Amino acid sequence: MSISELTGREPLTPLPEPAERARLRQAFGITMQQLADALHVNRRTVYMWETGQGEPQGDNRDNYASVLYAWAERLRETRQVREWVNPQTGITHLQPDNRPCYTCGSRHDIDQESGQ
Ligand SMILES: [Zn+2]
Repeated sequence: MSISELTGREPLTPLPEPAERARLRQAFGITMQQLADALHVNRRTVYMWETGQGEPQGDNRDNYASVLYAWAERLRETRQVREWVNPQTGITHLQPDNRPCYTCGSRHDIDQESGQ
């Protein structure tokens, strides 16, 4: 039984796209091995999740989603990133100041796009 089934709560959905998972981890200087150890999986599994070759299931998914969500929240709290929602895809992009977007790797002129 997974944590979601145990607690009756909905799993945290959706997980960020694979490239964003890697960027969030890298934003905090965490290695794949460190993340794998924390989630009690092997490094290969994290690699699969971050490259889109595999999707976490059950408790792994809940735990992984919690970590990714917490990282994204911390980045927002410290105002190191700004959010931009692509109106065509609905995907939220996280862009740090003076660095490429964590989500897609390009640079958005967010202030201009949001009219500020
Ligand atoms: Zn982007």
